[in-house]
Amino acid sequence: MKAWILAVGSEMLTPFRLDTNSLAITEQLNAVGCDVRLKTVVGDDLEELASWFRRAVGSVDLVVCTGGLGPTEDDVTRDALARALDATLDTDAEVLDAIRERFKRRGLIMRDINARQALVPRGATVLPNANGTAPGLWIERGGTGILLLPGPPREMQPLLERAIDAYIRPNAGDRGLFRRVIRITGRSESDVDAVAQPVYSRWVQAPVPISTTILAKMGQIELHLTADAPNEADGRAALAGAVRELLDVLGPCVYSTDGRAMEDVIGDLLRERGWSIAVAESCSGGLLASRLTDVAGSSDYFDRGVVSYSNRAKTEWLGVPAELIEANGAVSEAVARAMADGIRARSGASVGIGITGIAGPGGGTPEKPVGTVCIAVVTPNGGDVRRFTFIGPREMVKFQSTQAAMNMLRLHLSDGPSVYRD
Ligand code: ATP
Ligand code: MG
Repeated sequence: MKAWILAVGSEMLTPFRLDTNSLAITEQLNAVGCDVRLKTVVGDDLEELASWFRRAVGSVDLVVCTGGLGPTEDDVTRDALARALDATLDTDAEVLDAIRERFKRRGLIMRDINARQALVPRGATVLPNANGTAPGLWIERGGTGILLLPGPPREMQPLLERAIDAYIRPNAGDRGLFRRVIRITGRSESDVDAVAQPVYSRWVQAPVPISTTILAKMGQIELHLTADAPNEADGRAALAGAVRELLDVLGPCVYSTDGRAMEDVIGDLLRERGWSIAVAESCSGGLLASRLTDVAGSSDYFDRGVVSYSNRAKTEWLGVPAELIEANGAVSEAVARAMADGIRARSGASVGIGITGIAGPGGGTPEKPVGTVCIAVVTPNGGDVRRFTFIGPREMVKFQSTQAAMNMLRLHLSDGPSVYRD
């Protein structure tokens, strides 16, 4: 099955708004074996949008269109579809009642323009929207299924799922594209590819073919595996085998095979042990605490974080001896270790982390260039302290510091492949 996606809204043709709905739509269409061949952002222009609908009818199996179903003058999707299909727009009494009811429940007055949202092209099926006023619409013409969805993601998502179940899955069969993401840190992209490529290049020929893309992101590498399978069970099984093969060659630099972010992995490792954590940060400016607390439920293990930027703060708050800073410099393994020990002792947390470094662009020296970061991790099982030299601008050095700190803790805690989940 071939599909197009149309994202409607002039705001997404400005530098300020991005069409993200099409990503969620693509993911769900792929899962039922629907191939997205084209996606496009169309401004709020009736004729422009109508011409896209005309182009689609008869040339693709499915068009999913989001946005422009609102009540205002610039919401033109309904009218554009009616024009393209040469269909009359009728007021749907049930939809009108539902909109009226929704306004009443909220104690608001329904304006006349809201009645526009009850207009339905003749022949279309209404998909009631529990989270908003604009319903979704489904209509078939010339062998093409056309699905109109509201723009706000929380309204779009449930209607998309319902439409896929009702209209798309029954015609799609079991075949689908199924995905797994493997996340790696602490190795370069070329290094990862040199090891992984001989493995994944074979999968293209496998009975359930798997294609692989390697994506370098800040502080991590991702391998995206996509299986083209006759059904979900076969797809998942092939992916599980592929992940095992990659783990064999890549080893412990893989920190996640199930979509979890590093901070989730750390959270799970701490929770399993019933351990708490406290962090003392200099150059990362609180980013480690911020990332650790991005995880829902992190209060189970996150105790506290301090940003001890100045030398005085390191001494006053963490008890790092002034002479130690004097003798080694603030960016040193010794000071990182003292920071980790200090926050751990003062908080009573099981794990203490200290980060101190030079984020740049100024402040580098020949011995300690910009990007030099010392990180210490101390746990009930001992400690580890390392010096890194990260590249890139300030925000990259900050991010990589937090990534490396969490990775040190992960490696310190993990006793082999038990950290991976199938
Ligand atoms: P409404 O009744 O809210 O006006 P609508 O169907 O007309 O619904 P739009 O007006 O096009 O939808 O968009 C409403 C909001 O939904 C936008 O401001 C934007 O925040 C979000 N939105 C719309 N389209 C997309 C998209 N493709 N990706 C992400 N967000 C979107
Ligand atoms: Mg709108």
